[in-house]
Amino acid sequence: MSAYQSINPANNQLLKAWNEHDDAYAQQALETADALYHSAWSKGDIQPRLQVLHRLADLIDQRAEELATIASKEMGKLIGQSRGEVKICSQIARYYAEHAATFLQPQPYASDVGDAWLEYHPIGVIVAVEPWNFPYYQLMRVLAPNLALGNPVLAKHANIVPHCADVFEKLVEEAGAPKGAWTNLFISTDQVADLIADPRVQGVALTGSERAGSAVAEQAGKHLKKSTLELGGNDVFVVLDDADIDEAVRQGAQARLSNCGQVCTAAKRFILHEKIADTFMAKFSAALQSATPGDPLDEKTTLGPLSSKDARDRLVKQVEEAVQNGARVEFGGRAIDGVGCYYQPTVLTGLTPDNPAYYQEFFGPVAQVYVVADDRAAVALANDSNYGLGGSVWTKDIARGRKMASQIETGMVFINSQSDTSAELPFGGVKRSGYGRELSDLGIKEFANQKLVVVA
Ligand code: NDP
Repeated sequence: MSAYQSINPANNQLLKAWNEHDDAYAQQALETADALYHSAWSKGDIQPRLQVLHRLADLIDQRAEELATIASKEMGKLIGQSRGEVKICSQIARYYAEHAATFLQPQPYASDVGDAWLEYHPIGVIVAVEPWNFPYYQLMRVLAPNLALGNPVLAKHANIVPHCADVFEKLVEEAGAPKGAWTNLFISTDQVADLIADPRVQGVALTGSERAGSAVAEQAGKHLKKSTLELGGNDVFVVLDDADIDEAVRQGAQARLSNCGQVCTAAKRFILHEKIADTFMAKFSAALQSATPGDPLDEKTTLGPLSSKDARDRLVKQVEEAVQNGARVEFGGRAIDGVGCYYQPTVLTGLTPDNPAYYQEFFGPVAQVYVVADDRAAVALANDSNYGLGGSVWTKDIARGRKMASQIETGMVFINSQSDTSAELPFGGVKRSGYGRELSDLGIKEFANQKLVVVA
């Protein structure tokens, strides 16, 4: 039985299985990608590559409904959210189509040594290892900048979203990219390791768990390859005593339930100032409990399933262990009975540092709630984490919010908004959330040869 199966998590029905690719297929893909890197496509004028991105953006817009439906059926995202994901994909493609040429302009450096500048060149074939939670967006974050730059990509998608992987590859081809510019590979982790070891591969980008990130970074390090890692997060959602409570509740609940809680930058630890804690909790609890589970394709559904049975079982076990170690379930705390991988919106309180769950990311609709006396305590709690991805601070006093944002040890902080993403904003973290940045001008330079040239 193939490891690459599309199973609808709303009803556990197998939709389709895809054959795995053998070593010969992977080697041929690598050869094709490497040949492309050495061709005028990668090393020549950027315009043909940007035209592909323009066409890809248009194609995605034209086929938005079909793409959204595939994602919703394959990994359970609510249809409205799938449409949102598809839309941001075309935005990213268009963004690099419009801005990459500027980002890659030679950059002069004032120096006494001579006339100096940086040029940006592709470095070769890149391997991308990607997760299922945003089955198109995660791919586009790697494709768009690397296609513009000229790096061919070999992509290994998560094994539960083969349909999205397949349709994405076909779209890139249909947009006019030459063979090898983006190749989807249904391969095992051992085959990924073989690719990373190959001298023709120059870098690897991974989004996923710490376990996967650590394994891939180890392989990349062993073979002296550049890597970028976008791993998990345990982001805070700090609500201060002068916050707009209703808006904080609305966005906080949305942030914890969106994609059924399976978002690396989702609000996971809610830190409430003691003066507003009871009011926030009452409204926040009501908002979470009003979520209606159902078919992700039904517009009325507000709580979809988790992405797979494994994901649901992992969450069940994690909450049970949190409780065994002293956490309190305020409500929820169980899988929803019946067919499908559904889990109740849940609030956990009473988490203390001696409870392993205090440091864990809950990848599902489970909020950890803490109450603090002041801003200092909020920052201390926020930073008492192995992760450092994003965060959100709610206050009407922007100076206060800015001060807190600068003290929180993460790669991104949003004031008076839940975490968000957009093509022009750098995305990435620190600590065990990984390293490197995707999107924006920074994303296109991660796998560029930033070459210094000096005329003395
Ligand atoms: P994984 O990290 O296992 O999967 C992400 C990708 O990495 C998949 O393509 C997977 O392949 C691949 N992979 C896994 N192990 C290796 C390896 N040793 N070498 C190369 N590739 C590898 O995520 P899970 O689906 O198991 O989710 C587990 C947890 O990870 C979640 O509960 C969440 O905490 C975190 N996560 C974070 C994400 C984020 O956006 N930062 C996204 C997804 C998960 P395959 O599918 O074939 O196993």
